[in-house]
Amino acid sequence: MAKLPEIRLRRGAGQRLSAGHLWVFSNELSDGFQSCEPGALVRLRYSDGTFAAICTVNPHSLIAARVFSRVDCDIDEGWIHDHLRAAVQLRDSLLGSGGSCRLVYSEADGMPGLIVDRFGDVVAFSALTAGMERMTPWIIDAIQRDLSPRAIVACNDSRARDLEQLPRVRHVIRGMLDEPVWFEQDGIHLLADPLHGQKTGFFHDQRSNRQHLATWCHDVDTVLDLFCYTGGFGLYALRAGARLCTFVDSSEHALELCRQVVERNGWSDRAAFLRADIFEWLKESRERFDVVAVDPPALAKSRATAGAAVRAYRDLNVRAMARVKPNGLLATSSCSGLVTAVNWRGAVEDAAYKARRPLRFIAFGGQAPDHPILATMPETEYLKFAVGIVGEPPYPRGNHE
Ligand code: SAH
Repeated sequence: MAKLPEIRLRRGAGQRLSAGHLWVFSNELSDGFQSCEPGALVRLRYSDGTFAAICTVNPHSLIAARVFSRVDCDIDEGWIHDHLRAAVQLRDSLLGSGGSCRLVYSEADGMPGLIVDRFGDVVAFSALTAGMERMTPWIIDAIQRDLSPRAIVACNDSRARDLEQLPRVRHVIRGMLDEPVWFEQDGIHLLADPLHGQKTGFFHDQRSNRQHLATWCHDVDTVLDLFCYTGGFGLYALRAGARLCTFVDSSEHALELCRQVVERNGWSDRAAFLRADIFEWLKESRERFDVVAVDPPALAKSRATAGAAVRAYRDLNVRAMARVKPNGLLATSSCSGLVTAVNWRGAVEDAAYKARRPLRFIAFGGQAPDHPILATMPETEYLKFAVGIVGEPPYPRGNHE
């Protein structure tokens, strides 16, 4: 077994770890970890000296240690290879072999700090921690060996890397790629842009919600896809048979990709594109649609702003509801991990109250199965989704003074 620096939990600080969580905060560790190299592998012990886990450590980060193994073993190239293979096999068995999906979802796949997405024959990954940064050569080799992609792109420009004091970079690390990547999902041609897009270039997490919404779109006239990016929700609605979709986003680049996707699928005569700041646009627009999809970027960026974010979700949903025709559908999402499912649902319910329109939920959803949620680690759950029928007319409120 490799000789590793040993670090210890403070007395009484081992409970969360014992319960299956994979993070250790800096104030839970005894002195000594501060001198570890950022990203180093360490052997973590409980305060009484018994073995707890093999972790990576970063003294600069509030999340000072992340658990890789509960058994005392070597974390090396072979370990990474085995874990990547297991994660890929799980997707193959859940979603069909070789498909485009998230292949590795960080802690939920036992590889803290690593995201790997596949788009056809291109693989994009993000190393979010100093520990994973150090293991990147192993990861690339394992991806190359098992998946033989045409290109591997490192999408290492997430804000999470600032907390680990890692630089933000995005580049092709193996193979060649100079443009967005076409891939197919559910019979739709889609585009991911790992080089210039958001996150890894496409959002696989919404797949089951897009499928779900599509089941109610075969007989609708108009769809509004707010925060459309490359068009996820609207494309599924068009494929299901919706007659017209209006795609709205503030990013010209996103709209350009969306336009290409619509064209490639042969739906250009059923689509309209609008570049706008949606928060402003919703204040002025008057048109109503049969289906309105709302999928904003995370509105809570830190724990301190989570309360304000709940109000922002409420206000956004009030305005989105106003754009739904009587008895049309609102499909609303939140990808803020810092806003709980209960608080977010409360915000949508408050929005219905404020909008004075009866809202009847018909479906709830979350992240697709390639983003599994580790039961002992609530932080692995972040995506919330609900579909509701927005009734009419606005009901009167009494005077209750
Ligand atoms: N619904 C998409 C993903 C949305 S990601 C899908 O299914 O793939 C969030 C999108 O919101 C991004 O494309 C981003 O450009 C856009 N966005 C962020 N702030 C915005 C704003 N104020 N107005 C309009 N679009 C915004």
